[in-house]
Amino acid sequence: MSFPEPLQQLIGNRLDRELNRKSRCHPLNGYLPQCPSAPLFIKREDELNANAVGTKQRKYLSLIPTLEHSGNCRIILIGSAHSNNVLGLTQLLRSRGLDVSALIKTPGNNALTGNHLLLSMLLPDDRMAYVSPREWPEVAQIAQREADRLSRHGVRAVIISEGGDSEAVLPGILTLAADVQRNSSDLGLEFRDIWTDSGTGISAIGLLLGMRLLGLTRPRVHITQIAGDPEEFRQRYARFETWLERLTGSAIPDPRPEVRFLRPASAAAYGSINKTILDESWRIARETGLLMDPVYSVKHLYTVKCEMQLQAPDGPQLILYNGGTLGLCGFQSALASRKPMV
Ligand SMILES: *Cc1c(COP(=O)(O)O)cnc(C)c1O
Repeated sequence: MSFPEPLQQLIGNRLDRELNRKSRCHPLNGYLPQCPSAPLFIKREDELNANAVGTKQRKYLSLIPTLEHSGNCRIILIGSAHSNNVLGLTQLLRSRGLDVSALIKTPGNNALTGNHLLLSMLLPDDRMAYVSPREWPEVAQIAQREADRLSRHGVRAVIISEGGDSEAVLPGILTLAADVQRNSSDLGLEFRDIWTDSGTGISAIGLLLGMRLLGLTRPRVHITQIAGDPEEFRQRYARFETWLERLTGSAIPDPRPEVRFLRPASAAAYGSINKTILDESWRIARETGLLMDPVYSVKHLYTVKCEMQLQAPDGPQLILYNGGTLGLCGFQSALASRKPMV
């Protein structure tokens, strides 16, 4: 697939040729308030990669080629025991024969479940090191010390920050805006609103910067902040803006879409789950046919529902499903305990 200019020229040859970069978009049936003047669509970012959570794939589109060509012998990943990023990247890198080690925040629960179990299946003990929650604020320095130690043994190592926060993901995350434009023209309609969720905010930043490059000031973008706050988002946005100016070699067009931040409507603390979120997971599955991960996607869709109940939407609406069914596997017993009566 080629992209509209100026994106094609900018990123066309910086992306992995084999990884998926197109996701489909279809009507969303059930769960959200249905109204003829506001048709609802869902973009299936979850289908980009069956083994990694959807939105991460766009970061990998450009991160993987950069790592493959970097000449580094070891890639050090950082994240929680249940990090979707560490699990997704580990699979892609190991399957390409690259040597990976992970610095993992020691989980509160030492039963091997969910992503922690899957990660342990992929990496032997000598490639997993645990850092206590108390020491976690210094994890970047701990990783650097490990890289220095390896280098004294002649092993060049590169460190990937939590959530994949790096300049190398920029070309990949710009693809989302072009893919939404493709969906919109295939469906023959213009979305009035996009509803997405964010953790580090990097994927949403990619959408917003991609829209600016393409000269799009619509649709309006609503962001459910599963983690972080608007100030943190703005700081990261400014950093990616600088990187984008370096990539394009010129100033980015100023016109930009309107952005609104939303707090999760329930279980607002990052990573937390409660009865409402578990019950909504069941309700979404029964009403829409979609199996969604509770930590991001269910919280997001529930928040969108609450917002739409407060203020009825008008015009075509696009909801992004950025997560994936794999994200359910750490919650099997919690979900089983909330099986509805009817
Ligand atoms: C990482 C992730 C996000 C958010 O991505 P960011 O780019 O960090 O904002 C959303 N949903 C799921 C399921 C994720 O794993």
